[in-house]
Amino acid sequence: MLKPVLRFAPSPNGLLHLGHAYSALFTAYWAESMGGRFLVRIEDTDITRSKPEFTDAIFEDLNWLGLSWEEPVWRQSSRFDIYAEQADRLKRRGLLYPCFCLRSEIAEVSTGTDPDGAPLYAGTCRHLTEAEIAQRFAEGREVQWRLKSDEARALTGVLTYTVAAPSPIDRPQIRYARPERWGDVVLQRKGTPTSYHLSVVIDDDAQGVTHVTRGRDMEPSTDIHVLLQMLLGLRSPVYTFHRLVLDEEGRKLSKSKGSPSLRSLREAGRTAEDIRQELGF
Ligand code: GLU
Repeated sequence: MLKPVLRFAPSPNGLLHLGHAYSALFTAYWAESMGGRFLVRIEDTDITRSKPEFTDAIFEDLNWLGLSWEEPVWRQSSRFDIYAEQADRLKRRGLLYPCFCLRSEIAEVSTGTDPDGAPLYAGTCRHLTEAEIAQRFAEGREVQWRLKSDEARALTGVLTYTVAAPSPIDRPQIRYARPERWGDVVLQRKGTPTSYHLSVVIDDDAQGVTHVTRGRDMEPSTDIHVLLQMLLGLRSPVYTFHRLVLDEEGRKLSKSKGSPSLRSLREAGRTAEDIRQELGF
């Protein structure tokens, strides 16, 4: 039988904190308990926010936590041509359209919010004529490419995904995906040939990932991932959504809220064993 393949896939746009440590340890230990493989993947498609020194720090922190992973480590920034190719397949099928809207314009006419709390796109650019599109390109306007969500969903029909059983005596659960609540999502962001959603499904398939582990807050993005998997003919892994590490006020840890980094905890004298114990491993 094929070995399970699991991965920890951080974005190198800051230092790792306890939330990342939980996710990395959870994934590595689950891989180990199944006799599977553990990969690390660097998700550096956001070229403005990703920094090589954060990638180095990720390896240093994971090593310090006592983890080891397979080499070579994939970096998404070296795979832009592959993401572009897959997006082109969708364009040739008429499933993507160019959007020239500014963030402020999107918010102004939006009629609701997506599961991340961002304004839902009202579809403004979907109604542009060929001539209007050509003119905007000629003006050198920044473009992002969006999925025609309703047409995509009409092709795939109802979609489900499998969530791993929480314990050996439970059964896996089948859940319905609800991509409609995301509207026409962006699959190629301004200035790059990809987006988080597009590259994550392509790479999980390309690396043969069998089990995807993420924090509970990220479950809604599975709606889009299973839709893309079906459209592009990619395999759908089993999912699991682990608990979140919260601060004293019950908020999810984040760089922007100044949650302490693993590096700062280490420099303050905490050991990897302390961290593993605190996180329950
Ligand atoms: N790279 C994403 C992040 O750091 C998560 C990757 C994933 O599991 O989908 O938030």
